[in-house]
Amino acid sequence: MSDQSALQAAKDLWHRQRIKRLVRDRLGRGSAQLVSVRSTVCLDPDCPGPATEIRVVDLALMQTCFVIHKPADQVSAADVSALL
Ligand SMILES: [Zn+2]
Repeated sequence: MSDQSALQAAKDLWHRQRIKRLVRDRLGRGSAQLVSVRSTVCLDPDCPGPATEIRVVDLALMQTCFVIHKPADQVSAADVSALL
C-alpha cells in the first residue's frame, strides 16, 4: 500500500467513524442499535460518484438502510438529520 492510499484509507475510516457518531447522536444516546457505514458504488446512472451507505440494526434485528449520494468526507450532520 502506498503512503497515498494509506492516507486515503485513514481519511475514509475517520469519516466513517464521524458519520457513525452523527447517526448515534441523532438516534439518541440511549438507543441500543448497531450502526455501520460504508462507501458504496451508486447504481443510479445519473449519480456522479461514490455514495455512502448507512445501515442501522436494532435489537430485534430490524435493519434499516440509507444511502446518501455523497462520498463519506462530504456527508454532513444535516444530511444525517434529513434521513433519520
Ligand atoms: Zn447516487
